[in-house]
Amino acid sequence: MFNTFIKDPKMLQNLKDLGYVTMTPIQKECLPLALAGRDLIAKAKTGSGKTAAFGLPLLLNLNVSSMRIQSIVLCPTRELAEQVSGELRRLARFAHNIKIVTLCGGTRFVPQCISLEHGAHIIVGTPGRILQHLQEKTINFEHVKTLVLDEADRMLDMGFYEDIEKIIAKMPHKRQTLLFSATFPKEIEQMCNEVQTDAIRVSIEEEAHTSPNITQICYSVEEHDKEEALKGVLLEHDAKSAIIFCKTKVGVAELQSYLVDEGFDALSLHGDLEQIDRDEHLLLFANGSAQILVATDLASRGLDIKDVEMVINYELPQTMEIYTHRIGRTGRMGKEGLAVSFVTPKEEGFFEELKEANFNFVCKAISELNPSRTTPQKALYITLCIDGGKKQKVRAGDILGTLTKDLGLEGSVIGKIDILEKYAYVAIQRDYADKAFDGLCSTTIKNRRFKIWKLG
Ligand code: ADP
Ligand code: MG
Repeated sequence: MFNTFIKDPKMLQNLKDLGYVTMTPIQKECLPLALAGRDLIAKAKTGSGKTAAFGLPLLLNLNVSSMRIQSIVLCPTRELAEQVSGELRRLARFAHNIKIVTLCGGTRFVPQCISLEHGAHIIVGTPGRILQHLQEKTINFEHVKTLVLDEADRMLDMGFYEDIEKIIAKMPHKRQTLLFSATFPKEIEQMCNEVQTDAIRVSIEEEAHTSPNITQICYSVEEHDKEEALKGVLLEHDAKSAIIFCKTKVGVAELQSYLVDEGFDALSLHGDLEQIDRDEHLLLFANGSAQILVATDLASRGLDIKDVEMVINYELPQTMEIYTHRIGRTGRMGKEGLAVSFVTPKEEGFFEELKEANFNFVCKAISELNPSRTTPQKALYITLCIDGGKKQKVRAGDILGTLTKDLGLEGSVIGKIDILEKYAYVAIQRDYADKAFDGLCSTTIKNRRFKIWKLG
């Protein structure tokens, strides 16, 4: 129970409202130590609740009445930074006035400066952009009390070490440093030595390599049979949400276009896409407007995409570590998950290693595939995009109100509503999407007319 370590009644109530009843193992380990101000080196797998493990102590140690920057969270990618700030904002609801600012590349610099002028308690972001702000002197880290390095191994993989060093040089030497990493290569050890003091190691080891609630199936296939086999797998399982992993961006693009040609609602996610498209694809996948996301390993780590029914390794990854991360997208928080892997003759060697490492596979032949239907089912939702967001002070309640009160739609046909900086996205059940679209086009939201697009 959280109340073993947290006494603030408002925080406890907020956790209850968020549906956080019991602590996850990593939270149980980290909370008392981090609250006591210790440096930590923490290791636990994706989806184990690491954000709250550092987020709660960080929020509870904040001096809200001082408008100085007191905590920094460094993340490897913009998606992860957005996710962490989202989670921190939810956790911060116990107090009214905690200001969290996200600073990442891929967005304009000047608006970030304007937002910083109003002051901030917590900065979440990617090293490159944060360093840029430090160099332009638009932020000041002289009063930082806590530094969090989230997904530290990944940041090093991405070549952020020097940027991180330069950022740390701008902080007080006396501070708390919490480091989270899924793996411990030598470089991490070295970094810990340099940036931490008497750090305590916290590690939640997984007994087996993966949670027992993930069923792993493998199909031996020849290269030229793969597309057809994939179609069979998707039709057999009829999953509402599936992530398909390929090794390369080109592979992702080709497979996605094949799936679209075959009638699947498939989107892609890889590093060559514009940031705005990456965000939009993730959003559409998460709100049920696309059942399939074809991705490179950009999506295998950290990203919190809820309720993925199945993961498909269209191509096996290079390492066991990545395999673990990929299949960790399914079967989260104790749910049942399914991971399907295709193994071509060339991949047999690595596949044997996986089996020796105690990954348990059920091996099947593609001739056993038993599609439950001949054509894919369309996604449950269609998303309408509205050209007004936080900037225009559009709130989810306004959109919901217009749809239900003015246009007479049932609340139950309206799905997730996401309000971004300049745009809002609302998921509508497919059969009602036209009605909602036509209605929204010819009415106003908060007495203002907006442009509306239909996506998917
Ligand atoms: P990690 O960083 O370890 O990959 P996250 O911090 O992103 O994991 O958490 C994964 C999911 O679990 C999030 O959706 C989060 O809201 C949820 N979660 C975290 N802690 C708890 C808890 N104690 N009880 C219920 N859900 C939790
Ligand atoms: Mg995380």
